[in-house]
Amino acid sequence: MSETEAENTETASDFIRDVVREDLAAGRHDGIVTRFPPEPNGYLHIGHAKSICLNFGVAADFEGRCHLRFDDTNPVKEELEYIESIQEDVRWLGFDWGENLYYASDNFEQLYEWAVHLIGAGKAYVDHLSAEEMREYRGTLTEPGTPSPHRERSVEENLDLFQRMRAGEFADGTCVLRAKIDMASGNINLRDPVLYRILNAHHPRTGDAWHIYPNYDFAHGQSDAIEGVTHSLCTLEFADHRPLYDWLIENLPVNARPRQYEFARLNLTYTVLSKRRLMQLVQDGHVKGWDDPRMPTLSGLRRRGVPAAAVRDFAGLIGVTKSDSTVDMALFDHCTRDLLNASAPRRMGVLRPLKVVIENYPEGETEMIEAANHPQNPDMGSRQVPFSRELYVERDDFMEDAPRKFFRLTPGREVRLRYAYFVTCQEAIKDASGEVVELRCTYDPETKGGNSPDGRKVKATLHWVSAEHGVPAEVRLYDHLFMREDPGADGDFLDDLNPDSLTVEASYVEPALADAEVGTPVQFERQGYFCADPDSKPGAPVFNRTVALRDSWAKQKKK
Ligand code: ATP
Ligand code: MG
Repeated sequence: MSETEAENTETASDFIRDVVREDLAAGRHDGIVTRFPPEPNGYLHIGHAKSICLNFGVAADFEGRCHLRFDDTNPVKEELEYIESIQEDVRWLGFDWGENLYYASDNFEQLYEWAVHLIGAGKAYVDHLSAEEMREYRGTLTEPGTPSPHRERSVEENLDLFQRMRAGEFADGTCVLRAKIDMASGNINLRDPVLYRILNAHHPRTGDAWHIYPNYDFAHGQSDAIEGVTHSLCTLEFADHRPLYDWLIENLPVNARPRQYEFARLNLTYTVLSKRRLMQLVQDGHVKGWDDPRMPTLSGLRRRGVPAAAVRDFAGLIGVTKSDSTVDMALFDHCTRDLLNASAPRRMGVLRPLKVVIENYPEGETEMIEAANHPQNPDMGSRQVPFSRELYVERDDFMEDAPRKFFRLTPGREVRLRYAYFVTCQEAIKDASGEVVELRCTYDPETKGGNSPDGRKVKATLHWVSAEHGVPAEVRLYDHLFMREDPGADGDFLDDLNPDSLTVEASYVEPALADAEVGTPVQFERQGYFCADPDSKPGAPVFNRTVALRDSWAKQKKK
């Protein structure tokens, strides 16, 4: 079995869990503490779910705890809306941080004191180089950097300047606080990295109390230490930051020794997993919002009808590795389908309706037909579906000049209407433009229940809805949000948007679906898994197709 085929999180073994197991065996920790550290500058997406499942999963596997910590160090981009949505999404995924909800901003005073500590030790200084100059002085991968002319400022001058930065005496960008490490280091992150910058901005939690904000590197590891995090798990792009993470922990009077470990981020085909890009899709109106069912956000997936367990199963299946790769979206769909197949009750909905009149069925009569809620699971019971002389069937289930292999409706051919009767198409009625608007059929009363008494066979079973009793419904069908597997690989990712990612159909569904509960999955026979959208009104449901029935992943695997 390859690393990516680990069965699920409970039994999962991966290099992170190996490290934890070893640390526990060696007595390095009494207990395991992990954390999920989102920046509240957008909604969570399925990539974050990988990190959430890993952090909470490791904590659960080793009877430790996992904190939820908001990395709220950039007030310019952060909002309460995101803080709330992130908590809702983590809970929806099925994880509980208990009392362990933290904010990096709660540590601002302590972080400030530690910055002063570094200044006092001659290990940090205030620099007045502009951002551009700083870039020039930093050097390149092959050339060492050049020390800033402000690098040798006295401790007193630095303390005074830093205190005045805090007091709000300077405009944004006037100066920064930098760690004094090594301008010649082979690791650019150690060439006197910035620890604090001036931002005269209102913070969602600390208001106007601060005019300087710690950057990620200074806030993150120290927050880990304050919270007693033992294993700080992040994505591979932070590997080069680890020496700085360690340097800060070593040079500050922190009373814990967290360690950082990096794993590969999730990339998925046909979508983007970058908050900046997702934000752009929302702000420029390419989607209806963060929770648009086409979005890879957790709120989008939830609205679309994807069960949280499918996201967890997916995270378990892909596992945790140290090398970047891109996962096929079909694998995710497969996880969704797998769960819904077992749990979703079956219903009938005609997406693109075509009227059928059964000429020999008595006018004005209605009979109730028993239909199983789940043919493979009798425990799910059955329901009664009204049948009458006028019905709707799927437009695609009729073809006028059909080839021999088309087993559905065409003049002269008999088919089964699911649970009801055998019907034979006699004639197609067209409008002035030649479009088929109605089928005239006859039924065989002897075939009630959809069984023929004489062993006569039909090759197609069609779903249907009684025209009089059917409930008009708006059905939203989704395709990939992007046309190519790797959006943006050849230019602007927006150019790769799929213009047909949403198709809206005026459909009819059986009466049992009139007041379908929002978010509760059902299978529309032959069409896929659906759930009612919050846009539904009483008696006027709106459905999202969560995923179609065809499982291209299973097929691929067979090959
Ligand atoms: P940004 O770089 O815009 O901050 P981000 O996606 O890194 O975006 P964070 O809020 O910092 O956003 O992410 C929180 C946690 O989720 C981090 O530990 C990050 O490593 C992890 N994470 C983010 N994207 C992915 C991904 N695609 N796969 C796995 N983990 C991810
Ligand atoms: Mg980040």
